[in-house]
Amino acid sequence: EWVSIEQLLEKVVNHVVPLAHEKALEIRLDIQNKPIPDIKVDPIRMEQVFFNLIENAIKYTEKGKIDVSLDQDSEFLIITIQDTGIGIPKADLPRIWDRFYRVEKSRARKTGGSGLGLYLVKEFIRLHSGQIEVISEEGKGTTMIVKLPKIV
Ligand code: ATP
Ligand code: MG
Repeated sequence: EWVSIEQLLEKVVNHVVPLAHEKALEIRLDIQNKPIPDIKVDPIRMEQVFFNLIENAIKYTEKGKIDVSLDQDSEFLIITIQDTGIGIPKADLPRIWDRFYRVEKSRARKTGGSGLGLYLVKEFIRLHSGQIEVISEEGKGTTMIVKLPKIV
């Protein structure tokens, strides 16, 4: 199905605005290099991917803001979700994609969760021939970068 990732992101961001505002976090969606072409994806799964990533950004951030952006180069749509949250310890970074894996600190916190979110994200992105990368620093924040091919 041909899907507007721009509209999909707008839908997910609007959906989580109340969650962010509950924690006094600002959330913004920024779209660069319009027009953004539609791409062929499973809209239900892609919505789940962006929801999981943005939900994490809100859940693991106590102060600051969440920035979601959509951009493109010749080959890919590039979606980044950046937060100013607790970050992920270097030692845990390779394992966050594992099924049921949760970082110790957040496990101890009151934030619920099963540790399945990122496992599904990685799996769905792989099924769409995309890529995901994480950049994170403890105490500073996390950036998730998703690349989806324009032509599959
Ligand atoms: P679920 O998503 O299943 O409700 P979860 O959020 O704990 O539970 P994942 O989304 O798979 O599980 O994330 C795995 C772990 O990676 C989290 O428990 C958390 O420790 C860490 N993590 C994920 N995203 C972030 C983020 N944006 N900032 C800090 N830590 C994160
Ligand atoms: Mg999660």
